[in-house]
Amino acid sequence: MPISPKKDIRSIDQQALRAFFVENGEKPFRGDQVFEWLWQKGAHHFDDMTNLSLSLRQLLDQHFSINHIAINRMQRSKDGTIKNAVTLHDDLIVESVLIPTPKRTTACVSSQVGCSLNCEFCATAKLKRMRNLNPDEIFDQVVAIDQQSQEYYGRKLSNIVFMGMGEPLMNYKNVIAAIDKITGEKGLQMSPRRITLSTSGIPKMIRKMADDEVKFNLALSLHSAIQEVRESIMPFCGNFPLDELLESLQYWYEKTGRMITLEYLIWKGINDREVDRQALVNFAKQIPCKVNIITYNAIDEEYFVQAGWAAVKAYIDVLEKNRISVTVRRSRGDDIDAACGQLANKS
Ligand code: SAH
Repeated sequence: MPISPKKDIRSIDQQALRAFFVENGEKPFRGDQVFEWLWQKGAHHFDDMTNLSLSLRQLLDQHFSINHIAINRMQRSKDGTIKNAVTLHDDLIVESVLIPTPKRTTACVSSQVGCSLNCEFCATAKLKRMRNLNPDEIFDQVVAIDQQSQEYYGRKLSNIVFMGMGEPLMNYKNVIAAIDKITGEKGLQMSPRRITLSTSGIPKMIRKMADDEVKFNLALSLHSAIQEVRESIMPFCGNFPLDELLESLQYWYEKTGRMITLEYLIWKGINDREVDRQALVNFAKQIPCKVNIITYNAIDEEYFVQAGWAAVKAYIDVLEKNRISVTVRRSRGDDIDAACGQLANKS
């Protein structure tokens, strides 16, 4: 008879773990202990669970596996940024990045292998294989980066951004389950205020998040506030008109009271005109938000070229004139292809 694969223990909840021990003639609190090992202490092996007897660890091993990730390659940039190639239990690979600044350490995590969307300027979109990450695979990236932060920078991880590979709102259930474990009392207990989910903008899902009363921050990859331009660089946006997107953001703000970050890239000949700037101002005026201008990281695609400083400055000036807060994000880790939009499993 073929042996059936063991169940990933992190796919079941605490109640089911307690029930498992009861069924096996043990005390239910054993389930709580195991749960703690899995989600608070980040154990990757049953043998790590030192407050369980050998026979209990063997019992677990007969029934379950722990599908943990492995970091198979780590690269360090000149600026201190660390990029991890992360192997999943089925040998697929995603990337996650640690970004240190003098005051904080940010983990940039992936939510999918590849991406469901097709932004023309993003390296991840060119990858063929695609699957959603499980909650534990997202959680493990955070644990691994927290460990690296302590090892290399002597401090705990302070922030998390869902800006790695994938569109988090196309894997909503698992992303939320992971954030639950990252922020939960029975998890890593990180503050949701230090987590930012970045999305290309799926109105229905932004509304759902607002209804679910999530406590983390929202960033939108806008890049153009003119529908035709946006659709030409982010083709899936054909299904999501900008006015619908704007309404969903307004709904988010009504429900959560939290300001939205608009991420914005500026390219030569694509969105560097006066009409592009004016459209952004009009869009941004309609929701409490701040604009974050990101530097474009080239990905062997000649069509997209970072606009010069004058074009960036023109955006900054018109935004400031209209009292819209604007920041420019420096590119980090670009020497090791760890910067925004460069994650493509090159290694
Ligand atoms: N799918 C999500 C999160 C991943 S992308 C989203 O779209 O928001 C994270 C950010 O990097 C997005 O703002 C995205 O537009 C931006 N980005 C993509 N490709 C880039 C590139 N080549 N250079 C700089 N930023 C890029």
